[in-house]
Amino acid sequence: MKPPRSWHQLARLDPRELETLQDELLERRLVQELLVGSTHFRALVHERSIDPRGLGRAGWRSLPLTDRSDLAADSASFLLRPSPAGMRAHWPFGRKLALVAGGRRARNAIERSYVPIVGLTAGEGVLVEVTAHDLDVMGETGGRLLDVAGLGGSGSSIALELHAPHARWIAAYGAPRAGVHVTEGATGRDAPLVWNDDGIVGGELLRTWGPVETRALFAECSPTSGFHTSPDLAYFEVIDPSTGEPRDDGEPGELVYTDLAGHGTIFCRYRTGDHGLLTHEPCPSCGRTVPRLLNVETGSRPQG
Ligand SMILES: [Zn+2]
Repeated sequence: MKPPRSWHQLARLDPRELETLQDELLERRLVQELLVGSTHFRALVHERSIDPRGLGRAGWRSLPLTDRSDLAADSASFLLRPSPAGMRAHWPFGRKLALVAGGRRARNAIERSYVPIVGLTAGEGVLVEVTAHDLDVMGETGGRLLDVAGLGGSGSSIALELHAPHARWIAAYGAPRAGVHVTEGATGRDAPLVWNDDGIVGGELLRTWGPVETRALFAECSPTSGFHTSPDLAYFEVIDPSTGEPRDDGEPGELVYTDLAGHGTIFCRYRTGDHGLLTHEPCPSCGRTVPRLLNVETGSRPQG
């Protein structure tokens, strides 16, 4: 496996390399996480005779769409709980060896990585479990978000719009990475976001968007740039909301989210209820090559 890239390298990778990376990550997600830790997905792959090897973005569509009613109805099915048998069957040799050779320390790391420590609720009875690993990912998400938005540096102070429960966590864990002090304060979508201890110092609105039940959040680099996603953490599709059929780049539809890195509650082909379009063209404002979401409109459901 290639060594992990930094966000700054990733954000400007050749788009074809990003596509290859997402193909690899989707296969790894299914084999090493969903098949290992979810009876629901194990059964699904078996029932549908899905061959996870070489699955890629096209094959990913053989997995069913999910939505918040699925989570509300049976949240336990969507909690990632790796089983020893699953690890033996699906983890690569190196990962198994590290676990065996690492002894108690490695077992503690597994526990930290997969055992939920907090639950987030986002209305409609949906409980999203979060592990310590997820807090790390949310911190990285926050750091990237502030980088895209061009905010940060020592002494900065920002109040974020808290449109979803996870936004507070992302702010809390991500802000230190960008040298930012975050206060709560902005309440509405049109509220100014840049504050300091004396009050508002900037009237510019930093819009953020993330599927409201999830642990993801994205920012724009400029008001018309669209939300810059993280291709190693999130995979997006756009579908026709009536038929579920895929839409091409630039065609509007419902945004469908797959979490590529999270533990706790699984989001796999998750219908966000929000609409927009996806582009893989480099951003004309900043040059980053990550997939971007444009013209995003949130559904009418409650926000947080
Ligand atoms: Zn940009």
